[in-house]
Amino acid sequence: MSGSCYTYSQQLMGTTVSLQLFVENQQAVAAVFNTIQALETRLTVNRDHSEVMSINHAAGKQPVAVSKLVFDLIRQAKAASLLPHSCFNFAIGPIVKLWKIGFNGHSIPPAKEIAHRLTLTNPHLIELDQAKYTVYLAKAGMEIDLGAIAKGYIADITRLVLAQYGIYQAIINCGGNVLTIGCSPLTPNQHWHIGLKRPFAKADSLLGILHVQDKSVVTSGIYERYFMLNEQLYHHIIDPFTGYPLDNELQSVTIISDNSLTGDIYSTILYGFGVRQGLNELEKHKDMGAIFVTKDKKIFIKSNQHFQFELLADDYELCQSFIPEQTQ
Ligand code: AMP
Ligand code: MG
Repeated sequence: MSGSCYTYSQQLMGTTVSLQLFVENQQAVAAVFNTIQALETRLTVNRDHSEVMSINHAAGKQPVAVSKLVFDLIRQAKAASLLPHSCFNFAIGPIVKLWKIGFNGHSIPPAKEIAHRLTLTNPHLIELDQAKYTVYLAKAGMEIDLGAIAKGYIADITRLVLAQYGIYQAIINCGGNVLTIGCSPLTPNQHWHIGLKRPFAKADSLLGILHVQDKSVVTSGIYERYFMLNEQLYHHIIDPFTGYPLDNELQSVTIISDNSLTGDIYSTILYGFGVRQGLNELEKHKDMGAIFVTKDKKIFIKSNQHFQFELLADDYELCQSFIPEQTQ
């Protein structure tokens, strides 16, 4: 326990990215933020130009060659989209752009338009050529969206950047995606203490605290980006089978894993599964743990020995074994 702690923040990827180190190393800090900025510039779909946008602009016309880094993420995004019953779909772009949830101009789109755009979200129609690093969207109007996984991928890369500077103890927080590197110098048992936000509350109001070492902690929740209309909440995780925000008993899913990209993929997939199927799925993935938080204030935990959870909010209930019936 002890030592100095150095914290740096920058606005990147539409959020505040913060980096905490325990040695002073300005070169490493600059390298981390420059890397994040460079990757964001390649991966974003919220600007007119990026490597991913060059693929989207060429939809239905021709394959586009991209860098190995971008191709590698797209390859993994396609694999995740083709997993059985996966609600993760990297071809979801046309629907995300239609709803504009979390951006100016959001609204409930006409059902007919949603139905039409759903025809443009088949991940099988995104063709990858591993030899040439090209990506081809086979139908005009198709769009890749990597918003559900880019932060996880980028967080993993920052760990490699820090290692180049001999730094093996740090936390990088990309607004909801937290990567802890090594063990903590701040606590007696060397666990990092990571706050889990209370849904819909202010940032400093916590549901509980996770105790982890050398793990990624990624949350997908309905309270991150949403709008309200006629007392109905419309959030940013879209059900790729209906084109509407995913509707189940969950408020959020947090995945604790070694690698942040995996956590980012599975936070979306397990959110879509709901508690019952999500807990079952984790039986097959002993390399990760999860926290499910329901709308009726129940918390279901499958730690698989990757973390401990300390509940702080006394209006939430920790449920060990009972699993509720799926709501409609
Ligand atoms: P996350 O915060 O990691 O759960 O990701 C949410 C973001 O992923 C959204 O803002 C969209 O850009 C994108 N997205 C929404 N629905 C899906 C989906 N079903 N599959 C993949 N990406 C999605
Ligand atoms: Mg995600």
